[in-house]
Amino acid sequence: MRFVSGMLLTVVLAVTLVAAGPAASPPGHQAAAPAPAAVANVIVVTLDGLRWQEFFGGAERALFGKDADKDDPPTAVKRFWRGTADARRAALMPFMWDVVARNGQVFGDPSRNSLCHVTNGLWFSYPGYAEMLSGVADPRVDSNNKVNNPNVTVLEWLNGRPGFQGRVAAFGAWDVLPFILAAERSGLPVGDGYPPVPNPKTDRERAINDMADDLPPIWEGAPLDAPIMHAAIECLRTRRPRVLYVLLGETDEWAHEPRYDLYLDAAYRSDRLIRRLWEMAQSMPDYKGRTALVVAVDHGRGATASDWTDHGRKVPAAERTWIAVMGPGTPPLGLRENTTVTTAQVAATIAALVGEDYRRAVPAVAPALAGIVSGR
Ligand SMILES: [Zn+2]
Repeated sequence: MRFVSGMLLTVVLAVTLVAAGPAASPPGHQAAAPAPAAVANVIVVTLDGLRWQEFFGGAERALFGKDADKDDPPTAVKRFWRGTADARRAALMPFMWDVVARNGQVFGDPSRNSLCHVTNGLWFSYPGYAEMLSGVADPRVDSNNKVNNPNVTVLEWLNGRPGFQGRVAAFGAWDVLPFILAAERSGLPVGDGYPPVPNPKTDRERAINDMADDLPPIWEGAPLDAPIMHAAIECLRTRRPRVLYVLLGETDEWAHEPRYDLYLDAAYRSDRLIRRLWEMAQSMPDYKGRTALVVAVDHGRGATASDWTDHGRKVPAAERTWIAVMGPGTPPLGLRENTTVTTAQVAATIAALVGEDYRRAVPAVAPALAGIVSGR
């Protein structure tokens, strides 16, 4: 997130999740009557600036530094280096690869001729999240400044749909998230980390806020991820949102430092936090077997040993992103091949997963990902 130049930058975290839509209807043409949604709820998690290189290939040897080849290499090498890409990515993000990829679909693996990218041409956080959540890249969104998103997001739109009112919630490890979601206008409850739970009601929520307050403020405007996700999990348990969005940001912050070891560790912990959230949903009767998961990123990063830390206008390689979707209505196709998709498609996908047609309401937005909802 952090997009200011210099050493200690602010970081932005965001996770994007996407829901699936009907098997890609042509523009302007929709099935007469939407089939009843098998999925009642959708959880969206975004991981700020986590590169496709690590997501699909695991740790990159050259980025560990010279100590990686010592007889007793650094801990990160032991934890995350394996002999094959499949083993490396499974070591880095076991939930995403053992559960999500096996039971869902993943877009953006270049080795499968699958391209996923943002279309905003800026390659930093706010434009990435705005594109992902509104469904369109708007040139007016050209900074990380705390200004309200001029466009409705799919979260705001869903919050106005029958059955969804008051049942959309968002948590983010970035204090710009309330502006991306235009919280003042949209009325969406947004926890931005200061504190994680805006209006705590349970003992656990108060404890999460106390814990967050006791953690080090490493980056301005970008708190650590764990309290954010624990706030989201408690929200799911007690307030039962049908649409829950969580933006995690440590991946981006540690990359900017640059600390490859802690960047990898952040990816690993993000994966575990997503698993915790998913397992909470599966423990709840209204959510078990009725909930979809979307995981996405707001931008990539540089592709070389000198610019993997960075993204933004000077780093075109940061255009490349990825998206993963899993849910009871999504065919388990695994790694999608021979596809080109955009992060803008996440918005309509989120809606399509819960049986809603965002694009019919807002024709300018990108279509839902094709093939994500069975029978459509
Ligand atoms: Zn970002």
